Amino acid sequence: MTLVYDVVREEEKALIKTAERLGVVLKTVKIGEVLDVEGWEPDVYLIRTLSHNKGIVAAAVVEGNGGLAVNSSSAIAVSWNKAVTLARLRACGLPVPRTKVLFGEAEVEVGERAIVKTASGSWGRKVALVTAPEEVRLLMRSAENEVFLLQEMIGTGEDIRVFVIGERAVAAMRRIPPRGDWRSNAARGGRTEPQQIDGELEDLAVKAARSVGAFYAGVDILIGDRLYVNEVNGIPEFKALMKTTGVDVAKHLIEALVELRKT
Ligand code: ADP
Ligand code: ZN
Ligand code: MG
Repeated sequence: MTLVYDVVREEEKALIKTAERLGVVLKTVKIGEVLDVEGWEPDVYLIRTLSHNKGIVAAAVVEGNGGLAVNSSSAIAVSWNKAVTLARLRACGLPVPRTKVLFGEAEVEVGERAIVKTASGSWGRKVALVTAPEEVRLLMRSAENEVFLLQEMIGTGEDIRVFVIGERAVAAMRRIPPRGDWRSNAARGGRTEPQQIDGELEDLAVKAARSVGAFYAGVDILIGDRLYVNEVNGIPEFKALMKTTGVDVAKHLIEALVELRKT
């Protein structure tokens, strides 16, 4: 088993420690400025790069050399694009916020409150609340080559992060936006609480991970008049989830990979 990384975050440290503790041999490959497409022996590779570009390419190279990438190159590529992800979620019959994809400045209607976000991005950095079409145009002008999503706002921005591994929801937390904000990302200082996983939540999250072809994923679910799947993270962080719930996500993941290697 091999861990592919670029930056060592708390998650990667936890994975390395956990493998050691469980007696699982976990090799590591660092992706720096250069990636050689040859010399990757067939193995199970856990793709944990901070850079999604590096992750997608590394996973594809692994697959091209007969190895198994977790997640697969296609799962990482699909989940990294929120517009493609929404299409996949809908194809699987899952509820998603009403969304229009914007490829250029256009005449758009904006409801009382709407969300604009780039197709790719994380940590709530490229997500904005808008109340007028002019604001949408300004945002688009500030990043001309980006694809944007214009989306109905669901609830208050509070959401549920469900961590799925191999068709099971192993942990979940409620994420409450900080005062004066509506973005619940832990990176923005949102508060978190353990969330009980019932059948409906597990079913939704497992289907969402499956819809993008992810073996494991962090699924974000918005809370409105019903639950809506917002996004699927294909290289998910999980330190906040471990702290909030006490669930040893790293252990679950290593154990699931050991099982996967046997098949
Ligand atoms: P990122 O990949 O940066 O996490 P998200 O789409 O998950 O992007 O948006 C970040 C946060 O913004 C979400 O966790 C949620 O709190 C809020 N948010 C995003 N889209 C919506 C929406 N349609 N309705 C309500 N809140 C949203
Ligand atoms: Zn995200
Ligand atoms: Mg998110």
